[in-house]
Amino acid sequence: MNLKFNLDIVENYHSNTQKARVLTESWVTENLYCPRCGHPNISHFENNRPVADFYCPSCSNEFELKSKKGSIQHKVNDGAYETMIQRITSNQNPDFLFMNYSKEQNCVKDLILIPKHFFVPDIIEKRPPLAPTARRAGWVGCNILIDKIPVQGRIDIVTNGQSKPVMDVVNLVNKSNSLVVSNVSARGWLMDVLNCVNQIPHDVFGLGDIYQFANSLAIKHPQNNNIEAKIRQQLQFLRDKGYIEFLGNGVYRKIQ
Ligand SMILES: [Zn+2]
Repeated sequence: MNLKFNLDIVENYHSNTQKARVLTESWVTENLYCPRCGHPNISHFENNRPVADFYCPSCSNEFELKSKKGSIQHKVNDGAYETMIQRITSNQNPDFLFMNYSKEQNCVKDLILIPKHFFVPDIIEKRPPLAPTARRAGWVGCNILIDKIPVQGRIDIVTNGQSKPVMDVVNLVNKSNSLVVSNVSARGWLMDVLNCVNQIPHDVFGLGDIYQFANSLAIKHPQNNNIEAKIRQQLQFLRDKGYIEFLGNGVYRKIQ
């Protein structure tokens, strides 16, 4: 995969913001395959659509690109907070592509895919309203908290200037599809318990290990009166989907 930007196309642009947008978007249409089905290219929507930037001509999946100079490990700025929450709760989000590029080297450094079914309101951080002196005074934007998304939903396409094999990416996306839950509240529980399982440092663990997280989960879900039963229900879901196995007597093993 060619990770270099095509500088010829921005010769007539003066604004750095516009240049960056044109370079990164044209890089996607010229070089990126569809990470869902492996189709050799994805297309840009003709006009500025409110929800997505790109689509796959083969599987029709839609993608939105967020690019920045610098790390995409922790958080990435996005648009209006309320719009984002509404998109998540109405299941209207596309998959997101997060890109870190180098302006000095004019190339893609990191690119990750977050499939739409990993978006929950919990990963959207409200930014402080813009100051009264700002042109859009009072406007509230958001950050997407990448590091709160379970590792199973952060699929590396390019890491530190190295691209991953296409089929590895497509297989990981397909595997992550088994975690599709359309109800956003149920999805929140699944992501929470998956994050807890991921935080346990060893592959074989007991109920006691996962119940360590019960207090923090109870704070997040004050309306739930039976946190431990909810945890066990989510563990069953993860077992049914092939992420963990039950060894008996409340002992589990993570499946890599
Ligand atoms: Zn596709």
